[in-house]
Amino acid sequence: MTEVVAAPTAGETGEVTQISHWIGGKLVPGTSGRSGPVYNPATGSQTGAVAFASVEEVDLAVRTAKQTFESWRLVSISKRVDIMFRVRELVHDRREDIARYLTAEHGKVLSDALGEVARGLEVIEFACGIPTLIKGGFSEQVSTGVDVHSVRQPLGVAAGITPFNFPAMVPMWMWAPAIACGNTFLLKPSEKDPSASLFVAELLKEAGLPDGVFNVIHGDKVAVDAILEHPGVASVSFVGSTPIARYVYETGTKKGKRVQALGGAKNHMVVLPDADVDMAADAAVSAAYGSAGERCMAVSVVVAVGDVADPLVEAIKQRLPDVKVGDGLDPASEMGPLITREHRDKVASYLDSGREQGATVVVDGRESAPDNGGFFLGVSLIDDVKPDMDAYRDEIFGPVLSVVRTDSYDEAIGLVNDNPYGNGVAIFTRDGGAARQFEFDVNVGMVGINVPIPVPVAYYSFGGWKGSLFGDLHAYGPESIQFYTRGKVVTSRWPDPAKSKVDLGFPQTR
Ligand code: NAD
Repeated sequence: MTEVVAAPTAGETGEVTQISHWIGGKLVPGTSGRSGPVYNPATGSQTGAVAFASVEEVDLAVRTAKQTFESWRLVSISKRVDIMFRVRELVHDRREDIARYLTAEHGKVLSDALGEVARGLEVIEFACGIPTLIKGGFSEQVSTGVDVHSVRQPLGVAAGITPFNFPAMVPMWMWAPAIACGNTFLLKPSEKDPSASLFVAELLKEAGLPDGVFNVIHGDKVAVDAILEHPGVASVSFVGSTPIARYVYETGTKKGKRVQALGGAKNHMVVLPDADVDMAADAAVSAAYGSAGERCMAVSVVVAVGDVADPLVEAIKQRLPDVKVGDGLDPASEMGPLITREHRDKVASYLDSGREQGATVVVDGRESAPDNGGFFLGVSLIDDVKPDMDAYRDEIFGPVLSVVRTDSYDEAIGLVNDNPYGNGVAIFTRDGGAARQFEFDVNVGMVGINVPIPVPVAYYSFGGWKGSLFGDLHAYGPESIQFYTRGKVVTSRWPDPAKSKVDLGFPQTR
């Protein structure tokens, strides 16, 4: 493989890599004169400058993708599958290289980054099943001599706009099923950690994907708006914060596009009085602080019902000194830095507002954060949080876990269902009946029973409710095949061969 994408640097050399677009199977340097900084969050140094696309550059990428669609949709399913299997092998073989890009620009620890690639790979593997997934239906003799069949056809150019927190996996949720369905793809990754997308673009090319099927355009609102406005874009898949998800959904659908826009989250973990406290505490710690809490499925609020609260808070507190915070490349680190200095400061501000508004700061992560210029905040725990406090109302998206105490199950379920987000939720209990009732009652898209981060496996689809998803169809899994294809139903009748004027050799009577 020709290494054209610069390997991730730690930033010690002071060298700043220029990060280009990828259009038509090659790197295309930005021409807009605008760019954004990319940091190594573990040191705070700038390592890259990512090009911000102009409207004209987005137009070039869309036109390239649209032109390529004409030939890509003619490629047989078996050839497409052959390419997808090779993509799977290459992504699997190069997973450590991909993980290094993630750690270099996002900051998550390498083991977490490898986990991200593994979850993305599952979606690529799912997409390898496209021959059975894209099958239509057939009804014979719906009327005398009349048959009906249905097919699913690709849309054209599918666009993906993705967040900073899963720079490899979330794009894989989108491009793998979209391309397998016969679409061409235009990715606008987060400008905060853009390099992994270019490395993956090289792998797709090496796997034999024709140039122009997968394109990457970098940028900010200008690029996003150009995608939403462009008549050549058939569909938009978005993952990011709720205000931008709403904006993308409203703007894209107004322009006649098919849009799915996954938004932010505030995930609750309800712990009933009969729960295994050690199991619940272990789950809370890994689900709240993994990836520094920058996961859309991270547990943000523990809802402690009844007298489980004191032992649970104590059990969580006891575990926190063991979470080693440091550079993600250091194998001893269990939690890395946050994405930017500004975000770290905003996350930390909830410790102050929580205290001012009457909560108890049990552990303040500022006291344990490495002090080396990196964007670190240690694990933090706030108890006695109330629903009207900022720490409860906002999506914090960092390593700050809140505990809300309730007196009853009804109060707990009311809290979860009143929340404007509905991405993930978990219940911890030993009681099967209570768990079943919770599953029935809760207005959330993904539910865990003694499982803190219930991310569906790749052959189910991923999506929240309420402010966590705008649109109808969820990401990856069977719903992604529906999203990236349109149905066509064909009703057909053929002249009776027995009545043919040409002798076809059919008997005259049957
Ligand atoms: P973000 O909304 O700031 O950015 C997402 C994308 O939108 C990026 O590509 C960005 O360039 C673009 N964007 C940002 N501001 C824009 C604007 N004003 N106009 C047009 N485009 C704009 O999100 P983020 O900070 O990168 O990611 C974190 C958020 O993503 C959190 O809210 C998290 O919960 C959410 N998220 C949700 C899921 C899910 O599945 N529901 C998964 C991962 C992340």
